[in-house]
Amino acid sequence: MPHPTSIAATSLLTTAAIVSATTLGTAAVLGGATYAALWPQSQIFGPVLVAPRRPKEIALTYDDGPNDVATERLLEVLARYDVRATFFMIGRYVRQRPKIARAVAAAGHVIGNHTQDHPWLPWQTATRIRQQLTDCNAALEDTLGIPIRLFRPPHGARRPYVLRVARDLGLTTVQWNIIVSDWLPTTPETLLDRLQRGIGKNRQQGLASNIVLHDGGDKALGQPRIPTVEATQKLLELCKATSTKFVTPLDWLDATP
Ligand SMILES: [Zn+2]
Repeated sequence: MPHPTSIAATSLLTTAAIVSATTLGTAAVLGGATYAALWPQSQIFGPVLVAPRRPKEIALTYDDGPNDVATERLLEVLARYDVRATFFMIGRYVRQRPKIARAVAAAGHVIGNHTQDHPWLPWQTATRIRQQLTDCNAALEDTLGIPIRLFRPPHGARRPYVLRVARDLGLTTVQWNIIVSDWLPTTPETLLDRLQRGIGKNRQQGLASNIVLHDGGDKALGQPRIPTVEATQKLLELCKATSTKFVTPLDWLDATP
């Protein structure tokens, strides 16, 4: 596997793209190509934004919406704590639920491209990859009337062509460094515990936390995501009156020289 410094050197986002020793250990087990395609923090197929060295900062990101009920409840919670989050939306759902997508944007949250239909991109043809990204951008821009700057590949899976198309469209690819399996049946307490452990680990390493949660699901609209909403509320309550700062990947990007 490449040495950490060689990975950092390939990145245009050196302050934002962090690869930990643990990651590299796992990489050796997974094997190079699989690691490069699937490991969220891998920089081998091209630079991706993960989290900078700002341990007090947390970016809350929500994938696979807009979704009935959960997205709207989430907006209420985020508003109550005056926190700005990031939503990586599936283009097909944006077309089906434009009102919810508009409500997210109107509340001041950042919205990113999560493809039109949520396929595993590494196994798709070049034509289909480009179509998936451009269709989602069109759905978002038609519905919201704002330019889209961020992209998250479904499952975090990519190959070099995926990242090239994203760059061509002016999109920065954003991964994560905390994931808590909130798409499986669970409780808010379990999710909160996993979130706190992840944040603690990142802080020990001097890193911000880039948390991926899910307000929807790629299979269909209507996925039950209330535990995710309640875990968010609990986390925000715990962080109230602390020095934690909630930010978006755009804040990191705009601060990167
Ligand atoms: Zn997804």
